[in-house]
Parts: sequence; structure tokens; C-alpha cells
Amino acid sequence: MNICNTCGLPKELCVCENIAKESQQITVMAVKKKFGKKNTVIEGIDTKQIDLKDLTKKLKNILACGGTSKEGKIELQGDHKLRVKEELIKLGFPPETIQVK
Ligand SMILES: [Zn+2]
Repeated sequence: MNICNTCGLPKELCVCENIAKESQQITVMAVKKKFGKKNTVIEGIDTKQIDLKDLTKKLKNILACGGTSKEGKIELQGDHKLRVKEELIKLGFPPETIQVK
């Protein structure tokens, strides 16, 4: 059985991830890369509570783009700012915690 490290409850009963989603402040922004290309950077995710690799994989699948995650930051290839906000909301992040710059 999968037990949560934070509260010790089985993962089906654990709400730690939901609490984390409500308490964090996420910033989504587009950054300029070489040759006029843009990437989308997502910052502020609480990596103690949220599996960043898993979230990156989901977003890459949904948006059909490349991307990486490190040091609490997700970087996706291309400008997907508005889609990313929409998809994060669908994944359970409250809209008021997501700021698009
Ligand atoms: Zn928990």
C-alpha cells in the first residue's frame, strides 16, 4: 500500500497534496530564448508535496511539447502560459493560486 510520508495515511485518504495546492503561489511566465523562441516557466510549486517530475510529464503530454523540471521549476518549450493555467486548474490547483505574468 502507498502511505503518505507527511501524514501517514494511505494515499487514497491523504489530502496533503490538496492542502499544498491551496497554500502555494504559482507563477507562470513566458521567457525569451535564442532565435526568438519562447519557453514557459512555472515557478512556486511546493516540491515537498507535489511530484514535480510527474506534473512535468502530465503537462508535456497535454501540451505535446518538450520540457524539463529542476530546482522547483518547470520549463516547457513554447509559449503555453494560458493553457498551462487552464491545465493546472484541471489538475486541482485553485485558480487564485496561479498567477500568469
Ligand atoms: Zn498525506
